[in-house]
Amino acid sequence: MRPAFAAALAKGVRTHMLSREEVALLLRAEGEEAAALLRAADRVRAGYLGEKVHLRAIIEFSNYCGNNCLYCGLRRDNRLLFRYRMSLDEILAAARQARTAGYRTIVLQAGEDPAYSAGELARLIRRMKDELDVAVTLSLGDRSRSDYRRLREAGADRYLLKHETADPVLFARLRPGTTLEKRLERLRWLQELGYQVGAGNMVGLPGQTIETLADDILLLQELRVEMAGIGPFIPHPDTPLAGAPAGSLEMTLKVLAVTRILLPYTFLPATTAVATLAPDGRQRALQAGANVVMPDLTPPPYRRHYALYPGRNRPVGEGTASFAWWVQEMARMGREVTADYGHIPRGSGSAHG
Ligand code: SAM
Ligand code: SF4
Repeated sequence: MRPAFAAALAKGVRTHMLSREEVALLLRAEGEEAAALLRAADRVRAGYLGEKVHLRAIIEFSNYCGNNCLYCGLRRDNRLLFRYRMSLDEILAAARQARTAGYRTIVLQAGEDPAYSAGELARLIRRMKDELDVAVTLSLGDRSRSDYRRLREAGADRYLLKHETADPVLFARLRPGTTLEKRLERLRWLQELGYQVGAGNMVGLPGQTIETLADDILLLQELRVEMAGIGPFIPHPDTPLAGAPAGSLEMTLKVLAVTRILLPYTFLPATTAVATLAPDGRQRALQAGANVVMPDLTPPPYRRHYALYPGRNRPVGEGTASFAWWVQEMARMGREVTADYGHIPRGSGSAHG
C-alpha cells in the first residue's frame, strides 16, 4: 500500500475529515488498497452503528413524471413507458400489507406527479401514521415549501431528495430546467421543517470525474444528511443516455465506503441499483458501509412499470419481498434485522454533531 494512501485512510478513520485531494486519492484505490478501504468502512459501520440492518418497505405509487431527467426511464418524453397511478386506497392497502409483514418504515416514492395534491397526500400520511404506527419516508422530488410543510405536519418523518451530482453544470445538463442550487435550497427547507433528510448521488454519470465524486461526498458531509442514497447510474434504452456506459460496482462501493468513513452515523442503503449490477452487489454494499435495505413492496401489477433503468425489478435472489426472507438473508451475513422504526439521531450527519 502506498504510504500516502495509508496515511489518508488512517486519517479518515480517525478524524472523519479529509480534503478533496485525500478523498480523490481514496477513490482511486485499486487492488489491495481498494480492499483495505472497504474493510475500513465496514469496521467504521460496525463501530458506530453495530450489526443492525434497517428494512424500509418502498411503495412506488406513480410513474408519471413532469420532469425530463436525461438518465431516467420515467422521464416525461419516454412515450414507450406504460404509465400508472395507484389510488390512495391502493397505496394505503400496500402500506398495510407491508406493516403486517413486519416493516416499520414505509417509503412512498413516485415521479414528480402533480396529480396527487398536498392535501390528498397529507390525508394519506395521517391515516398511515394513525392506523399503522409506521415511520413514513417520502421521495416525491421537487415540490413547494408549503407542500413539504403540509406533509411534515401530517406526520411524514423523512424525505429523500438526492442531489444526484455535486457538479452544477452536469446537474443542469442532466436535469433540464432545474439547478443544483434549487435542489440544495429544497434540502435546506426540508431540514428546517424537521424532516430527517437524505441526499445522495449516482456514480458513473457521463461527464462525471473522480473529483466530482469527491465533491459529492464532501457535499453530503457539509449538508450533514441523515441518509445518503448512493448507487450506480444504469443506462435506460429509451433515454438520451441509452448509449452511455453504466457506473461500475467497484467505484460505487468505494464511494459508499468513503462516505461511511466521513459520515459514520449516516444511514446508507445498499441500493437496488447496486443489486441490479451484480448478484452479490447488495451483500458487497452491506460489507462496505451500508446499513439499510429497501425491499420493493409495490404491488406486482405495477412494479415492472417503475422502470428507471433496465433489470431493476429483478435483482437476483430477491424473488420475494417477505420480511422473514430478509431476516434470514441478513443473518447469513452475521447481521441482524431491527424491528424498530429505525429513526436516525438528529444531527448525526457527521461525527462531530
Ligand atoms: N422523482 C423523484 C426524484 O427524482 O427525486 C423520486 C423518484 S426518482 C426515480 C429516484 C431516484 O432514481 C433518483 O434520485 C435517481 O438517482 C434514481 N435514478 C433515476 N434514473 C436512474 C438510472 N438510470 N440509474 C440509476 N439511478 C437512477
Ligand atoms: Fe422524474 Fe425523478 Fe425520474 Fe427525474 S429522476 S425523471 S424527477 S422520476
